[in-house]
Amino acid sequence: MARVALVTGGSRGIGAAISKALKAAGYTVAANYAGNDDAAKKFTDETGIKTYKWSVADYDACAAGAQQVEADLGPIDVVVANAGITRDAPFHKMTRDQWQEVIDTNLTGVFNTVHPIWPGMRERKFGRVIVISSINGQKGQFGQVNYAATKAGDLGIVKSLAQEGARFGITANAICPGYIATEMVMAVPEKVRESIIAQIPTGRLGEPEEIARCVAFLAADEAAFLNGSTISANGAQFFV
Ligand code: NDP
Repeated sequence: MARVALVTGGSRGIGAAISKALKAAGYTVAANYAGNDDAAKKFTDETGIKTYKWSVADYDACAAGAQQVEADLGPIDVVVANAGITRDAPFHKMTRDQWQEVIDTNLTGVFNTVHPIWPGMRERKFGRVIVISSINGQKGQFGQVNYAATKAGDLGIVKSLAQEGARFGITANAICPGYIATEMVMAVPEKVRESIIAQIPTGRLGEPEEIARCVAFLAADEAAFLNGSTISANGAQFFV
């Protein structure tokens, strides 16, 4: 039986590339998304990957969503917590809503996504938890106190889960992408994008497929000893 993978935010951007890469590697994939029905439908039409709509910020919706995926496809072996948002503002102008929305989606959203799936992974003595963090969680970023806090927090989640899951055959790892050519980054003005690229020693943005390849690597049964790690995929922009 093919292993089952759930990818949150799996119908657009980096998540879509992850869903496709896992499907190509033989997994049965469920792609979650929040609200963009048109993009989800287009994605399913193009890939044949089933999509599921719920917000990762809502614990009950995550639990019900995971239950539905397992009823449709079988027990979830691999969970990729990829869904994420930005609500940027310099700290002195950041509103409490901007803070809370990002915390609810990027940090609590990881708890909400993994927590309902975790007991089954423990019982079956196998699991792969992969969290998409960010270079900005490693180094901080002007205008992203909220986002950087969540992405740094995600690394703490992964390192702790790795220790708790290790003797149950579960690994938990994080990927910290640098700047990747998704709609989010391509939407910034060309001049700003050029200044971003100028700071990347590789001289270009990363491609979503380059992050997806890291996920497929971490998801594999053979990656069992890689646990609690952070893979930095950023074109040599920042080292930890
Ligand atoms: P996109 O904005 O292109 O896609 C985001 C995806 O997440 C969409 O599928 C969206 O669903 C989904 N999503 C957003 N909020 C929720 C929610 N509450 N519940 C469920 N799904 C949700 O983002 P990227 O592909 O650029 O980013 C993916 C991840 O990678 C994020 O965690 C981001 O922080 C991280 N990252 C991105 C970098 C980049 O340069 N792009 C760099 C470093 C990290 P819908 O389609 O319905 O809107």
